[in-house]
Amino acid sequence: MRKKLVVGNWKMNGSRAMVVELLTDLKARAPWPSDVAICPPMAYLGQVQAELTGSSIAWGAQDVSAHNGQGAYTGEVSATMLTDLGATYAIVGHSERRTYHAENDQLVAAKAKAALAQGVVPIVCVGETRAEREAGHTDAVVQRQLAAAIRSMGARIGEVVVAYEPVWAIGTGLTATPEQAQAVHARLRQQLLAATPAAAQMRILYGGSVKADNASQLFAQPDIDGGLIGGAALKADDFDAICRA
Ligand code: PEP
Repeated sequence: MRKKLVVGNWKMNGSRAMVVELLTDLKARAPWPSDVAICPPMAYLGQVQAELTGSSIAWGAQDVSAHNGQGAYTGEVSATMLTDLGATYAIVGHSERRTYHAENDQLVAAKAKAALAQGVVPIVCVGETRAEREAGHTDAVVQRQLAAAIRSMGARIGEVVVAYEPVWAIGTGLTATPEQAQAVHARLRQQLLAATPAAAQMRILYGGSVKADNASQLFAQPDIDGGLIGGAALKADDFDAICRA
């Protein structure tokens, strides 16, 4: 039995005051039936670490460098540093990173490998654009993206979290139907199973306009093991309801 995981991706939102306000509210609502984590902007990771000490809410980064340790990589944050802070997760390959920062499958796989090497669990995002779905290329795209991570990590792929996030559903209010999402998740799990038997226990999250009113139908699907939540993670009522869905 896989325990559900709900991860809030705050994207480039927040302030020191908002961190205190939202986390104070969320901590008062714990526990939830699912595992819960938040990924704030890097600037607030230290504050979040302090706020969440002793809480059941895990936390992580929205990205991580492909380079570990220390070095001349201006602007980068290594998994070594995330481990030093106590982070559990690092999102890699979010479509906004792929689109706005030209991150390709190889770079995303290298980031995932770097995170895992330092004990940070990568949340590897895959997903097709609207044009790719309409052209019937959904499976080819997500399987190519996932294959790069499998090649890079081998059987250790069993230690990552995968997030299926159709690009056309992110921040648009459009959501994949539970059936559309389940179909992709089932095929991703088959692909993972070919790499490791641990895939049966791996969590594959769905992301893309998950809200309080559609989460339970999505999470009821057999291969949907929780969600990666953007906009709705910024409101305690919405995020709490999704974590209970
Ligand atoms: C995301 O940022 O990963 C996401 C799914 O955003 P939203 O929930 O706002 O669509």
